[in-house]
Amino acid sequence: MGEPQGATAAIVSIGNELLFGETVDTNAAWLGRHLAGRGIRVVRGYTVGDVAGDIEEALRLAMEGTDLVIMTGGLGPTPDDLTKDVVAARFHRDLVVDAGAEARVRAHFMASGYDDIPERSRGQAEIPRGAVALENPSGTASGILVEEEGVTIVMLPGVPRELVDLVEGALAPHLDAIAGARTHHRVVHTTGLAETSLAEQLEPALEATPAAAKAGIDLAYLPDLRGVDLRFTIRGGSAEDAGARFDDLLTHLDPVLRPWRFDAEGGDIAEAVSARLRRRAARIVVAESCTGGLVGKRLTDVAGASAVFVGGVLAYDNDVKVRELGVREDDLERHGAVSEVVARQMAEGVASRFGVEVGIGVTGVAGPAGGSEEKPVGTVWIATYVDGHVEAAHHRFSGDRSAVRERAAQATLAAVYRRLTDGGDGV
Ligand code: AMP
Ligand code: MG
Repeated sequence: MGEPQGATAAIVSIGNELLFGETVDTNAAWLGRHLAGRGIRVVRGYTVGDVAGDIEEALRLAMEGTDLVIMTGGLGPTPDDLTKDVVAARFHRDLVVDAGAEARVRAHFMASGYDDIPERSRGQAEIPRGAVALENPSGTASGILVEEEGVTIVMLPGVPRELVDLVEGALAPHLDAIAGARTHHRVVHTTGLAETSLAEQLEPALEATPAAAKAGIDLAYLPDLRGVDLRFTIRGGSAEDAGARFDDLLTHLDPVLRPWRFDAEGGDIAEAVSARLRRRAARIVVAESCTGGLVGKRLTDVAGASAVFVGGVLAYDNDVKVRELGVREDDLERHGAVSEVVARQMAEGVASRFGVEVGIGVTGVAGPAGGSEEKPVGTVWIATYVDGHVEAAHHRFSGDRSAVRERAAQATLAAVYRRLTDGGDGV
């Protein structure tokens, strides 16, 4: 894959709360990831309190050898918000009112019933002379960009939502300019394998890939509860060339990725399931116990769901499993509600009662109570009925109740997706 090159950045996170552990510095994490995606590598980070001297020292260090310094926090109207003053003083610039920023601050306060900007918030419209105010769509503190000593210094509010909006909005063109060449991405969505296990399979495959197919391509693993996105990045060149190179590399990695990957524009496997069903002109029904309707929700979140999603049974209580799905009472007694037999009967029962081609049954122990030695919290059975044939799989998910449910719903959708994907089960 080669050493990443190109523009570099340092992050300065400002706020006593970050030092005292009251607030986790999610801004730095998000920025690191986001900037990487834009072809700017974060090489250092500093965290300082609301102390002018410390902010100034961090700024000095952050500027050494970098193209970009992003400072977050300390842009509010209160006396502990010092970022702007420190930067202005450091570069001998005075603070001047920015007309655009002032108009936005005024509009904000008018909308909240004020006649004018309150005295304590006047400073919100000020920026260091010669700087650029960046419009903040979700708050009163504008972002501020200033060039000094060949380094672009950007001040952003600490509120995570505002920071994200600013970076993705007004700051984006500046970041592209700093990154220089355009960066190209290809995201491959995977689910069903944890990040470390995926890496264990993928890294040897990358190792074995000819140098020509991987040179200059960076890979980032982006995990969440639902799966791991793999983001491949190429800096510079045309989109067509990058596309061809991604295709080539992915051909080499296909044997490893195929069992886990899925294609969905928005990254949601429910979309992929929906598309598969549509292609087959098939419809789906759900019988959900531990997921409490999450699978149905995920499927109906997809626009145009009515073409493929029929409905289902929230079979939480055993009575419902028996009466509405035809699960056999003696099996419930013998094997328990969280069992392969019951999951299978749920999937088959719901499909046959609704007269639909595809049915799913999911039953498990979401916790925190209800676990046993034999069936600990996180135990989930997932059954899929497709065209008259049932398959079932056992899972053991980690995490709290909501994580178990989220993972179970995701695994259920993944199971259906695999069965509906050309090439058959597990492909
Ligand atoms: P400030 O811009 O310093 O007034 O910060 C406003 C709020 O944003 C703070 O109260 C924190 O809750 C939050 N915040 C500040 N800095 C960060 C950060 N680096 N990461 C996450 N949240 C932050
Ligand atoms: Mg603060």
